[in-house]
Amino acid sequence: MSKYWSEITKSIEPYVCGEQPKDKKYIKLNTNENPYPPSPKVLEAIKNAANGDLRLYPDPDCDEFRKTIAEHYNLSKDEIFIGNGSDEVLAFSFLTFFNTNETIIFPDISYSFYPVYAGLYNLNYRLAKLEDDFSIPVSEFAEKNGGVIIPNPNAPTGRCLDTDSIKRILNYNSNKVVIIDEAYIDFGGNSVVGLIKEYDNLLVVQTLSKSRSLAGIRVGFAMGNEELIQGLNRVKNSFNSYTIDKVAAAASVAAIKDEEYFIECVTKVINTRERIVKKLKSLGFNVIPSKANFIFIAHKDYAASDLFTKLREKSVLVRYFNKERINNYLRVSIGSDEEMDFFIEKLKEIMNEI
Ligand SMILES: *Cc1c(COP(=O)(O)O)cnc(C)c1O
Repeated sequence: MSKYWSEITKSIEPYVCGEQPKDKKYIKLNTNENPYPPSPKVLEAIKNAANGDLRLYPDPDCDEFRKTIAEHYNLSKDEIFIGNGSDEVLAFSFLTFFNTNETIIFPDISYSFYPVYAGLYNLNYRLAKLEDDFSIPVSEFAEKNGGVIIPNPNAPTGRCLDTDSIKRILNYNSNKVVIIDEAYIDFGGNSVVGLIKEYDNLLVVQTLSKSRSLAGIRVGFAMGNEELIQGLNRVKNSFNSYTIDKVAAAASVAAIKDEEYFIECVTKVINTRERIVKKLKSLGFNVIPSKANFIFIAHKDYAASDLFTKLREKSVLVRYFNKERINNYLRVSIGSDEEMDFFIEKLKEIMNEI
């Protein structure tokens, strides 16, 4: 705490990311990164973009990338906003759409960045309590509120909400913005992008970090009614007009265009997930049904905190949240088949040792 900090700086509780350790080599199953490299076409585009033109500022509107997404999702360019990772898109969205004198709603178990943004902007929030099986209680979002944000699939549970439930939430809140954070939608869920023309209060946020293997390049985007997008641009242009550099923009265009490689990678991740879920169930784990590139697991005979510590000793990193209701669960990202087999092997060793 420093006397030089503003009141807001003193009061905020910043987000803590999953660790990126440097002490030794780990099998990293803790930050939902994709085990496969980006498309070779993306790497090619990055090399081509590394030229003398870097002396110039990038396109602040990201026109080419917006055009690429627009074509991909059958939207217009004016319905798309690009940001420096979807975390930035979410941070801007909170400021653009939510008011301090109202109360926004999100699930009690969801992305832990949401309460951080709420703290930063001094927003009130109410937590919608998930059911015991971690499904989302749709009726909780019918109460009067200042806006809604839900990850779909949810993080860290992996559970998906169906399109009809999201429609109900949009109908309950026709005067407020409903943000659906689709960071993991490509791993088996159904996107609600198709509802944008029907609902002018829907903002869909996606990222290249997970399904497109580009966490290192920091690009995310929002899709929604033109007026929502104009609002986001007002906020962005009050912070920093050039959030996307030329290299990242070139990589992003190539990533969306290489559909074949994308499908190949997500299919591999999904197949590995389904195989590993079966193995974990046969070891007695409770596995929450997942449509994401991670799974949320618990065992009645082994404390998650012990499993977490012992896995770490054996060079496998997973995520443990020491938080009410989920403190006996581990979130395990889906790695390559070899990484996941190593994880299962170490898990079996630990279960024999304890
Ligand atoms: C990973 C993640 C994001 C952020 O992704 P970026 O890397 O910032 O694009 C957003 N929402 C959820 C739920 C996530 O898990």
